[in-house]
Amino acid sequence: MTRPETRLSMPLAALGLAMVGILVGVLLLISARVDHNAMLHDQSLVERGLVAKTRDLERSIAPQTVWDEAVDRLGNRYDPVWARENIGAYLLGQSGFDLIFVLDGRDQAIFSQKVGSDLEPGYFSRHSASFNGVLKAVRDLERLKKPVQGPRPDGGLVSSPLQQSSFELIGSETYLVTASLVQPDFGRVLPRDSKAPIIVTALRLDAAFLLAMSNRFLLAGIHLHPGEATPQGQDARVAIRSLEGPVVATLDWTPPRPGQALLRKAGLPILLVVGGLAASVVVFAVRSRRIARGLVASEARATHMARHDALTGLANRSLFDDRLSEALRGLSRRRGTMAVLGIDLDRFKAVNDSHGHSAGDELIRLMAGRLTGLCRANETVARLGGDEFAVIAPNIDPSGAAALAERLVKALSEPADLSCGQVFVGGSVGVAVIDSAEAHIGAAEAARRADVAMYRAKEQGRNRYCFFEVEMDAALKARRGLELDLRRALAEGGVHLAYQPQVDARGQIIGVEALARWIHPTRGEISPAIFVPLAEDCGLIEALGRQVMRRAFADSRRWSGIKVAVNVSALQMRQDDYASEVAGLLIETGASPRNIELEITEGALLGDDETTHLTIERLRAMGFSLALDDFGTGYSSLSYLRRYPIDKIKIDRSFITPLGDDAEASALVASIVGLASALNLAVIAEGVETDQQRRQLQSMGCADAQGYLFSAAIAPEAVDAILSAGGQVNAAVSRATG
Ligand code: C2E
Ligand code: MG
Ligand code: MG
Repeated sequence: MTRPETRLSMPLAALGLAMVGILVGVLLLISARVDHNAMLHDQSLVERGLVAKTRDLERSIAPQTVWDEAVDRLGNRYDPVWARENIGAYLLGQSGFDLIFVLDGRDQAIFSQKVGSDLEPGYFSRHSASFNGVLKAVRDLERLKKPVQGPRPDGGLVSSPLQQSSFELIGSETYLVTASLVQPDFGRVLPRDSKAPIIVTALRLDAAFLLAMSNRFLLAGIHLHPGEATPQGQDARVAIRSLEGPVVATLDWTPPRPGQALLRKAGLPILLVVGGLAASVVVFAVRSRRIARGLVASEARATHMARHDALTGLANRSLFDDRLSEALRGLSRRRGTMAVLGIDLDRFKAVNDSHGHSAGDELIRLMAGRLTGLCRANETVARLGGDEFAVIAPNIDPSGAAALAERLVKALSEPADLSCGQVFVGGSVGVAVIDSAEAHIGAAEAARRADVAMYRAKEQGRNRYCFFEVEMDAALKARRGLELDLRRALAEGGVHLAYQPQVDARGQIIGVEALARWIHPTRGEISPAIFVPLAEDCGLIEALGRQVMRRAFADSRRWSGIKVAVNVSALQMRQDDYASEVAGLLIETGASPRNIELEITEGALLGDDETTHLTIERLRAMGFSLALDDFGTGYSSLSYLRRYPIDKIKIDRSFITPLGDDAEASALVASIVGLASALNLAVIAEGVETDQQRRQLQSMGCADAQGYLFSAAIAPEAVDAILSAGGQVNAAVSRATG
């Protein structure tokens, strides 16, 4: 596969090459243009040079032709000696012409000479074609000219030169031919004929001429070709024309090439610089692309992190919410069902507390892996926080959801091998199945239903799954309402105490158990069996416990000689500063711990942790006595009895009720009583309702009792009354005796 950098660098390299190519093209174009301009410049110099040369030559002839004496000696009478000396010798020698002719008024050569010798008499007429052009032109000028009448009064010149030049071929060679009309200069001699003589000069464009040109205009390789030469390469050319226009010869030379010179000198460095630039453009582009890809990747990472749980990599709550909304929208467009599963690990807190957070993290990761392994690709597994997970199954029917929930529960209950050792946790799963008719309920409601079902699964004993049902919702709502009411009641002192007497074998009061009472403004009396666990769940137990203890302590001051038993929730025992709080209440109320018995359940001792041990030690040290409540319903009771400094056990009502009817129950109670006496613990039976139960208990050795047989819980004033009446609990006495 091509890497993206390569994919990108190809067009970039092409771009770089194209840039270099374009630059080379531009450089070549510029150099060609410069060269062309230099050539044009050369050509125009040469053309103007030829014109100037012609004018120079014409000027050098002029003194010999505009001259009174020449009019006399060449026209009016012909003096061959004078002509030879003043025209021939002068123009051939001084001015460097190659051929000289003097023509009479009828254009017949009367004098023909070349350098060094006379020309044969027929020479001019043989080559007359080469001279006709200039001659005709000069004669035309002559006709237009005003005849000279005599010298001017001021003695000035009476004529200006009348000359015509043309490049002509004479034989095979090119000549600059000039015809000059012989005229008087001062007018002292006047021509007799109407047609004056003409002096014709011819200068051959020979090697010397070319050398002079090449020196003057710095032309290299100058050549003269007869006729119109075909261009040779890139040579510069000037056509040499006759007066009438046809090209008689071509002058060519090698033009200077400043453009190419520039290219040679600067081209390579420029190319290198541009090549370098192009290369850096490519490198830069590839780099920036890489950086951009890096940025995109880190943005993707950031987005992923914002939407996923860092510990497990699962979707987090935000992504879960979005996916759930999406699944509901999808459901609303079709017929079918989907499911949301709320999952909470059981006993996760215990692992975290006893093995540390890293073990907790390890456990969470392990469980996350198990959950993911059980879900399909279209299903979302999310970690909503702590030990809370959720699954969205966007397309599943109720039986499929049940099967999935069962698999999840089973997977979570498998032993977990952590670095600290093997732990067993398990999980409770709540399933909310939603059908297309309910797709409008929204993500929050769907998630809440799964949550409600999950709590129900927990209530039902954990490590199981439970489907959401509308009734649960009603129960949950009622519970929420009750929670608010309890909060208010606690704040307003709406919870009060009733005391249930405890009696000895003679029906004499030996203690009272403080029991919390809450009269709800609309629902009437609500059982502590309901509101105490509620207070434990919603964090109100400390406030409730404090209020109960404060009242019971205060009341106990009036009731000397009997114990006041106060129920203490397991949660309170785990509070770090519980003993100090109790000590504070003792000071506040002035109660004596000797008169107080604290009732704890086995649940409070279950953790067997440091804090509980310490708290119990401190409470005992303060002088409180401890009773183990609901004895027999819990776990390995004996070990707790050994480990903790317990004074008394309270045999749970569930063992007392069947007494008499059930031999097994009797045996059990008998063994508990035996155990108590063996461990030297006091024992009391609770929930004694019948005299038979009482007698049976007494026969087993359990004399102390509490129950409706004697009294239900009564107002503190009623306790006052019993005590002031001598401490006999009437009903009990009457029933016991009656
Ligand atoms: P518990 O501590 O075992 O209290 C005894 C419960 O048995 C009381 O119920 C009492 O009214 C009931 N009972 C007593 N004699 C009889 C009987 O002969 N027959 C029957 N059927 N029931 C009898 P109550 O008051 O409803 O309290 C229920 C539970 O609530 C208590 O059980 C205790 O665990 C808890 N509780 C009550 N008050 C407090 C409190 O102030 N603090 C804490 N932490 N828990 C409390
Ligand atoms: Mg109790
Ligand atoms: Mg009890």
